[in-house]
Amino acid sequence: MTSPRDDILAKINATLTDCDRETPSVRLMAVSKTQSPADILPLLQEGQRLFGENRVQEAAEKWPDLKKDYPDIELHMIGHLQSNKAGEAVTLFDAIQSLDRPKLAKALAAEMTKQGKHIPCFIQVNTGEEPQKGGILPQDLKTFYTEATQTHGLNITGLMCIPPAEEHPAPHFAFLHKLGKELELEELSMGMSGDYETAIRYGSTCVRVGTALFGTRK
Ligand SMILES: *Cc1c(COP(=O)(O)O)cnc(C)c1O
Repeated sequence: MTSPRDDILAKINATLTDCDRETPSVRLMAVSKTQSPADILPLLQEGQRLFGENRVQEAAEKWPDLKKDYPDIELHMIGHLQSNKAGEAVTLFDAIQSLDRPKLAKALAAEMTKQGKHIPCFIQVNTGEEPQKGGILPQDLKTFYTEATQTHGLNITGLMCIPPAEEHPAPHFAFLHKLGKELELEELSMGMSGDYETAIRYGSTCVRVGTALFGTRK
């Protein structure tokens, strides 16, 4: 019997074969927010190691124990991060994908120095320029990138976006691809359960999949 993960990995590979990708590798992130350790364990047993969480508190409750049994787990923060939780986030996570404002860049850099733990960050870009959504506006990206890397010394490895729910995602993926190319960044975190195949066609290197792996969230 094939698992949802097997199906998704097969679809990822089929999409990669179908489109002539410059960067041929895509990582599948399992977005485990709201899922219990009992829900997560079968995926670990299947070999899944890259996970995403959107809340520091929830991640702190679930992951330290799971990491004891599976030390090669890689946990990424993908949700809004308060600056006063930057320290806890640097301790818990292996990467921050939701770097979305100057104050947070400063707080993360200070905590990384303090803890001697320098983890990669992705800049979240608000490609749809939605007022209620986090992320750097496209026109501010270059300045923010320079500040994050030069002033704060952060290791920015890529860009991340969450397209507006009611729009076709493809133009947003294409836009993020273009922005990443301009900054010569290797990683593009884009694509979720409903659109990860489209995202791969536009150069995604990390698809963040929740419901298609776990079923409906609690
Ligand atoms: C919840 C979430 C996902 C996963 O969404 P699904 O539609 O369940 O695959 C991906 N990225 C972010 C930032 C999320 O918060």
